[in-house]
Amino acid sequence: MWLAAMLSTSLLEAACSVGPENRLARQNTASAMRETALKPYVLVGAGDIAGCTSLAGAAATAALIEQIPGTVFAAGDLAYERGTAQEFKNCYDPTWGQFKERTWPTPGNHEYGSGAGKAYFAYWGERAGSAEKSYYSFDLGQWHVIALNTNCKAPGVGGCQAGSAEEKWLKQDLAEHGRSCLVAFGHHALYSSGVFKSHAVHSELRDLWRDLYAAHADLMLGGHEHSYERFAPQDPDGQLDVEKGIREIVVGTGGRSHDPLGSPVPNSEVRNTDTFGVLKLTLWPDRYAWEFIPVSGAEGFRDSGETSCHNSRK
Ligand SMILES: [Zn+2]
Repeated sequence: MWLAAMLSTSLLEAACSVGPENRLARQNTASAMRETALKPYVLVGAGDIAGCTSLAGAAATAALIEQIPGTVFAAGDLAYERGTAQEFKNCYDPTWGQFKERTWPTPGNHEYGSGAGKAYFAYWGERAGSAEKSYYSFDLGQWHVIALNTNCKAPGVGGCQAGSAEEKWLKQDLAEHGRSCLVAFGHHALYSSGVFKSHAVHSELRDLWRDLYAAHADLMLGGHEHSYERFAPQDPDGQLDVEKGIREIVVGTGGRSHDPLGSPVPNSEVRNTDTFGVLKLTLWPDRYAWEFIPVSGAEGFRDSGETSCHNSRK
């Protein structure tokens, strides 16, 4: 009865209010809705974050994120040296932990330094999954974001090769998001110009890259090397592919320490080895912009650019 009265009142109001003012109001609403639809999502983060011997670096990158609304990615090696519960509590939590509710994590090798990663999974709870399924995905508007566990040999992971549980999950997840723009992140990178090749280059990730490439993924983010390095779009075999390649960005700049780089490997476009900072992605329905923001302010190293998303060109 009450609902019926309400409805008839609002219908009456609607019927009585057709006029220039109402048309203007409707136009305003439509343009506000269009603006909302076009409003980009922000994904910001880094890897290799809280070193318990000195929290200064992690505190400085946290101060940047404090100023940047949006979703946070934490690309592994979050609490040094061994990812214990105490290290998460004393080192990660006081710095990047303030963004926990808007952070999506993935484990690094240091998270497996004690108790098979138990403290990592306990700290993050449901959003990090479990030892057996520590990879997951979510949407930010038109963008599909995939968190991979690149610790292929870690307890419970079961490898990253074709046919492994993670690879099969990834392939299925990508098939379900065929029209999305795609960004993936993990701790280790397939390519880096790091000095020690066994630390820098992770060919065990190539099969995951093959699935991502076949699905026209745009971006792969990683860390592990404590440096910043951006690659030109390339295929899983490291061939330049400007049209359909995956752009890899290594952003192990979360605050732990700095590593040197060796001679640039093919397709490495931009490198920096002495700046802590965060990578901010601005994700529109049809394109993305990347920006490396240094802790050192206006004088610091920066890198930025913008390009269209592969699956929006279909
Ligand atoms: Zn690492």
